[in-house]
Amino acid sequence: MTIPMIIRINIGFLPTVARSKLINFLITQFQLEQSYSDNDDIISLNTTSSIQTIKKTVESILTEICEGYIITENIHAENEIVVLKKGDLEQLDIYICIHCGMPFESEGQRSIHQRIHYF
Ligand SMILES: [Zn+2]
Repeated sequence: MTIPMIIRINIGFLPTVARSKLINFLITQFQLEQSYSDNDDIISLNTTSSIQTIKKTVESILTEICEGYIITENIHAENEIVVLKKGDLEQLDIYICIHCGMPFESEGQRSIHQRIHYF
């Protein structure tokens, strides 16, 4: 049996219209009992799904409601995924490998990692 855990989705960087659409989607999809407003930055899911599954679910709806945004794990907060504008990942000091999408805490770490793709 899988123990439910809290996964937070940080939508603070999404524009208001897209934010309210995403909130409505999440409420339906995950049967959230708590209510949220467009001003809320964090949606908490009490779920047995893995963070990867949640990420994929949000990713699929995100392409329909708001172009140019991506979702990634927040390496600075455990069990948190964050929706960010493409190219603005540095807002959160997250550096994504351009080849495989793996997140890093610094540009240095990322460039060391990216070398593995060149061999
Ligand atoms: Zn990589």
